Amino acid sequence: MTTTLTISGPFGVPIHIHWSVLFGAIIPCLYVGFSLVDIPFFIIGFVLLVGVHEFGHAIAAKLLGLKVFAVHINITGGHCRYELPPTIWKALFVTSAGLLAQILLLLITTIYIAIFGYESGRVVNDFILVFTFLNALMLIVNVLPFKPLAGLSTDGLILWKLMIAWIRLAYRMAARVRKDKEDSISGHC
Ligand SMILES: [Zn+2]
Repeated sequence: MTTTLTISGPFGVPIHIHWSVLFGAIIPCLYVGFSLVDIPFFIIGFVLLVGVHEFGHAIAAKLLGLKVFAVHINITGGHCRYELPPTIWKALFVTSAGLLAQILLLLITTIYIAIFGYESGRVVNDFILVFTFLNALMLIVNVLPFKPLAGLSTDGLILWKLMIAWIRLAYRMAARVRKDKEDSISGHC
C-alpha cells in the first residue's frame, strides 16, 4: 500500500505528501470545534502552510544555485531536501527562509483580514484560521531548538548550531590574524 502521494511542484520540485497530513485538522478543530464541513479545508490549508514553509527553503536554495531534490509534507511539518550549502552564510540563508516564508504568509493573511474582515465565507475563514493561528503556533515550535523526532531537528536547532559554528569560525579567523600580526612584528626584529 502506498502511503505517499507524489505531485510535481513549482520549479520542477517533486512534492511527496504523506497520508498523516489528514491529522493536520486536529489543532484547528480543537480550537473552533469539530465540524465535518471544515475538516477538508483545514487539511488543504495545513498542506499549503507546510508547502509555503518548505518552498521557502527550496526557493532560497535555488537562488543560491543549489540543487533541490524534493519537498516532503507530513503531520510533523515535513522537510525540504537540497544540496548542502557550501558556506555558513548560505546555510543560514536557506535554513531561515522557511520561517521567513511563514512570516510572509502571516503578514499577507493579516492584511487580507484588515481589508476584507471575516466576511468572505466559511471556506476562506478556514484558511485564515490555518494561516494565522496554526501558522503562528508552528512558527513558535520551529524556532525552539530541539529534536521533535529521532533524526529530525527544528529549524531553530539548525540555526543555533550554524550560529555557534559561525562564532567559532570568526574566533579562529581573529586568532589567525592576530598570530600573523605577531609573526610579522617578530620578523622585523
Ligand atoms: Zn524548515
